[in-house]
Amino acid sequence: MPLHTRMLIGFVAGVLGGLLAYWLGTDMPWLDGFISYVTQPVGDLFLRALFMLVVPLVFSALVLGVVEIGDPAALGRIGGKTLLYIVVVTTAAVTIGLIVVNVIRPGEGLPPEVVQPLLAQAAERSADIASKRETISMMSMLLNIVPKNPVAAAANGDLIALMFFALVFGIAAAVLQTDGTRAFVAAVQGVYEISLKLIGWVIELAPYAVAALLFTITARLGYDVLTQLARYVGTVLLALGLHFFVVFPLLLRFFGKVSPLWFFKRAEPAILTAFSTSSSSASLPTTLKVAEESLHVPRRVGRFVCTLGATANMNGTALYEGVTVLFLAQLFGVDLALSQQVMVLMICILGGIGAAGVPGGSLPVIAMILVMFGIPAEGIGIILGVDRLLDMCRTTVNVTGDLVGSVVIARSEAKAETLQEAA
Ligand code: ASP
Repeated sequence: MPLHTRMLIGFVAGVLGGLLAYWLGTDMPWLDGFISYVTQPVGDLFLRALFMLVVPLVFSALVLGVVEIGDPAALGRIGGKTLLYIVVVTTAAVTIGLIVVNVIRPGEGLPPEVVQPLLAQAAERSADIASKRETISMMSMLLNIVPKNPVAAAANGDLIALMFFALVFGIAAAVLQTDGTRAFVAAVQGVYEISLKLIGWVIELAPYAVAALLFTITARLGYDVLTQLARYVGTVLLALGLHFFVVFPLLLRFFGKVSPLWFFKRAEPAILTAFSTSSSSASLPTTLKVAEESLHVPRRVGRFVCTLGATANMNGTALYEGVTVLFLAQLFGVDLALSQQVMVLMICILGGIGAAGVPGGSLPVIAMILVMFGIPAEGIGIILGVDRLLDMCRTTVNVTGDLVGSVVIARSEAKAETLQEAA
């Protein structure tokens, strides 16, 4: 049975089992034990194994990507295209989100007796998130791209800084063609191949892990909050759905020149991993494997675009940030003029690049934007109860967007290559 079918079975089994457990009652003692001793550890084990591979993969994939692209002109071209793709498609995503939230206006008319308890319940966690926002200023975000210490960057999961280091390392290795650098590149190639082999093993666990992760989440989900915030949740899902089911297929059809159905079928393992882990970084190993082996994206393009994209290309996250900020503005009666909404749009594009690819990675960014526009940052507390579900959905959009980007850019490169041959 192919992997994606097994993962789908795990997915359905996890959701149905979790719903059944929730329906039977979460206060049953065996259920708590089952979650704490079976489903949670299995899910965590899978996540840890995936995260374990992120640092070696990011470094080796980017160094090799750069070395394989080889000449600086081609590198500049592919880098430029990747950046352009990220900015244009993220702008489309945030625009969709802002239009949908302005039409539906989910933040208006929510009774205070719903809002107050939600705020109170999550006060501690939201204060924690709000206190982190001070650390993200625009200037330090830019400066932090260059790591003082690449090992510390890797240890702290600061992937943007690690990517910068890998990029310059790769460029220098490509320029300097000595015996030493060639030996180094061969060793990095070994690291990459070993990592891919390890992913192959870890992914064998995926069907069980996906079932375990989804069981844990659904069995513990707070449905009350979900119904109270139904209009907000619906707005986010509608906007994400439009991006996923309309924008992506259009890009695939017209720029990637592939059938969207073919794409989605082959991308399924990455899509399911993103949905069940809520983390672009944890999904990166699967994303790379899918791009190379299932979508047949040329290695040099796939490695480069997917690795950069896992941290910098977050369509779903940027869209979500826009919708959430406007939802909370509506809720607190803060009127944002069109010009301010354009500002929100631009900040969300940066927010998509700056947010970490971990569960809840966008929450500190949202706290920062709220403060900028005079909206109480405690508002984050209101959405925390539904964040996990929305995180799963936006991460799916983020990861799928990386794969769509790799297909689109590979196609445009294929043209450039044939043009080169003809010339
Ligand atoms: N969980 C998201 C990701 O990893 C980031 C976020 O929006 O919180 O892609």
